[in-house]
Amino acid sequence: MQSILVIGAGIAGLLAAQDLQKRGFDVTVIDKGRGLGGRLATRRLEVDGRTGKADHGAQYITAYEPRFEALVREMERDGILRVWRTAPSSLGQSQRPRYIAPEGMTAVAKYCAKGLAVRLGERVVGLMSAAEGGWKVQTDKEATIHADALLITAPVPQALMLVDTLAHEVLSAAERMSLEAIQYEPSIALMFALLEGKTSQVKPPGMVFVGGVSVMWIADNQQKGISPDVATLTIHTTPSFAREHWETREEDLVPLLLADVQPYLSMDSIASYSLHRWRYSRVTAPHTELFLAAAGSAAPLVFAGDAFAGITPLLTRVEDAALSGWAAAEYLSSVGT
Ligand SMILES: Cc1cc2nc3c(=O)[nH]c(=O)nc-3n(C[C@H](O)[C@H](O)[C@H](O)COP(=O)(O)OP(=O)(O)OC[C@H]3O[C@@H](n4cnc5c(N)ncnc54)[C@H](O)[C@@H]3O)c2cc1C
Repeated sequence: MQSILVIGAGIAGLLAAQDLQKRGFDVTVIDKGRGLGGRLATRRLEVDGRTGKADHGAQYITAYEPRFEALVREMERDGILRVWRTAPSSLGQSQRPRYIAPEGMTAVAKYCAKGLAVRLGERVVGLMSAAEGGWKVQTDKEATIHADALLITAPVPQALMLVDTLAHEVLSAAERMSLEAIQYEPSIALMFALLEGKTSQVKPPGMVFVGGVSVMWIADNQQKGISPDVATLTIHTTPSFAREHWETREEDLVPLLLADVQPYLSMDSIASYSLHRWRYSRVTAPHTELFLAAAGSAAPLVFAGDAFAGITPLLTRVEDAALSGWAAAEYLSSVGT
């Protein structure tokens, strides 16, 4: 095996690709998004000629495992991450710093993508087994990419949709059942940019776990240090609110959040807002292994990403995705040499 196509330029796909490239494989990463990072996402918000930023996916990064901690420390040394505050201990784990990226979370993805061949803005729409061995992957840009092995790090329901384009079944009944058992919760992210001179009432260091009916979390990106020129807020809804209002029009959503938001933001300070719907936000029922390799597939086909968290954290994290990507790379290199 020589060539590997990694579907997904989130943290799992990028770290797997780096690892595989270092081991001598010919690696290409492809992502439907215009930018790198997947759920490591930062949006620009323009207000009267000033540019603000808001992280609307992952808010901070924690590190518990030595390998990921070493990467986080490396990014801290290189100015990509800095400590925001300390996370309370959970599930028997000790306290750990919460790291944020001063340039926004996408900076982490850019750092992890250094030196990789990445095709952005290109969606994989179909898979075929190649007669000569390996895979033929069709994209929405009318391209066909040949690869000896495939690593799919898209959220699992999207990965299964791709597998279902194959002319033959590659998953055993047990594999399919375990993939279909993985569950995600949705979230709607609303980003507000504030008028010049206005600030929020979120207390330092710029985060509040609201735990309300509609709003779960509010972050003040200016206090967080990623949006010095414009005060911006990121609001994450609860999963139940996101489910109930998945189809609700953008302009009708804001009034529905008022009761939970008002203690932290007066409505007359809002200059503009922007919205993102995360259908697959965080994994509530992960797979128990760090990756899944389709046993019945002639050419290697591996699934990875935060859904393959191994243990069962309450909600999966950036670190889970990273560890899964590395484990999948290790596996692919072992079958490919
Ligand atoms: C609102 C929110 C808040 C969060 N907060 C935190 C937090 O504070 N701390 C924390 O640690 N974690 C947090 N997380 C979770 C964390 O962001 C994820 O666990 C992690 O980023 C997932 O990485 P990944 O590489 O597995 O998947 P992703 O980042 O989702 O990457 C998968 C990629 O696959 C691409 N893709 C899908 N289908 C196709 C296709 N057909 N063709 C091409 N590309 C495709 C997607 O575009 C995407 O970029 C949060 C997530 C969300 C959404």
